[in-house]
Amino acid sequence: INTQTISDTAIADAIALELERQRNTIELIASENIVSTDVLLAQGSVLTNKYAEGYPGRRYYGGCEHVDTVETIAIERAKELFGAKFANVQPHSGAQANQAVFLALLAPGDRIMGMSLAHGGHLTHGSPVTMSGKWFDVVSYEVRESDQLIDMEQVRKVALETRPKLIIAGASAYPRAIDFAGFREIADEVGAYLMVDMAHYAGLIASGLYPDPLPHAHVVTTTVHKTLRGPRGGMILCNDEALAKKFNSAVFPGNQGGPLMHVIAAKAVALGEALQPAFKLYSQQVLTNARALSEVLQQGGLDIVSGGTDTHLVLVDLRPKGVNGRDAEQALERAGLTCNKNSIPFDPEKPFVTSGVRLGTAACTTRGFGESEFRQVGELVLEVVQALSQTEGEGDAAIEARVLSQVQHLCAAHPLYV
Ligand code: PLP
Repeated sequence: INTQTISDTAIADAIALELERQRNTIELIASENIVSTDVLLAQGSVLTNKYAEGYPGRRYYGGCEHVDTVETIAIERAKELFGAKFANVQPHSGAQANQAVFLALLAPGDRIMGMSLAHGGHLTHGSPVTMSGKWFDVVSYEVRESDQLIDMEQVRKVALETRPKLIIAGASAYPRAIDFAGFREIADEVGAYLMVDMAHYAGLIASGLYPDPLPHAHVVTTTVHKTLRGPRGGMILCNDEALAKKFNSAVFPGNQGGPLMHVIAAKAVALGEALQPAFKLYSQQVLTNARALSEVLQQGGLDIVSGGTDTHLVLVDLRPKGVNGRDAEQALERAGLTCNKNSIPFDPEKPFVTSGVRLGTAACTTRGFGESEFRQVGELVLEVVQALSQTEGEGDAAIEARVLSQVQHLCAAHPLYV
């Protein structure tokens, strides 16, 4: 974080401005978090210089003694944290972890089944704009219109009718607990592999506060940088030795070249932090905060998809106020509250507009926000949305400025990277 030591001023200045942005705004993007300075230091280390194709003890380059130590520690911590027999910590991202699983288990043209993007699934679960949608025959399941929960009977019906080779459970905008045991039952009925992409929930799962997919899935993929609070990157976990070997080959050499050893070091540090008792308290606070935020928004007249949350994320339906997601995202940003517009299930608006915003509590909980701060955040969000509602989406500059000053007050009370 000491950007003064970077002599390239163009980049140093941009980093300094980004640090100020992070310090002075309220981060509500549900897929983001704020890493520790130890994670930053590990990632900004000389390990970036090292080529280490292969795996610990079996590399294609010399001089790997110390990076072997780092990667072995990362693997062992990942296994311990999630109770997995095997872990691959090399995927550069969540998308690449998913690609590696597809490469290991599928051939082009095979059928996969995932949650529809429009209902909360991730792009890599079969969207036509991604490799998953272009190379595989995709079928999707959705949430029920009545309660906006995953309809396990529909999942079973689609699976029985279409017999996919791989079923994906996990999502980017689904705020509720997922029945992983139920998914495995259905996968077994149709002879499919079950892959759980726990990217959003990983930190909550590590803390025992969300259903554990490891006992049920053939393979679990994740990102490290959301609720798990590590550096950007992915991992693959499983309990089956033969499958683990396939995933290792699919990551390298199948899908990637040299691993990012500096990122793996940062993953190891973050996994070490997540093994500490304090991390469980943090995750509990993330959940308490999300419930408080959801409650305040609901009381203020907004709809919450599924009526609440079991997780760090709150999917807000803005339609009761006649506001769309695009306008809300922009107005909230002007007021110092960063979030993303998000489709809600059965959304009448196009994906570039949407009827919702997705809010998350992981990042600001890290900087020390508790329930009362999140109740205040909820009130601030309501003020901005209410102003949009009364100005046909234009927003009210005076109200946004007033909210911004309260945002800055909250941020100053919970300083970042001091
Ligand atoms: N899987 C899920 C469920 C996600 O939400 C995301 C990212 O938001 C990813 C995978 C992709 O991760 P990455 O952006 O690291 O490729």
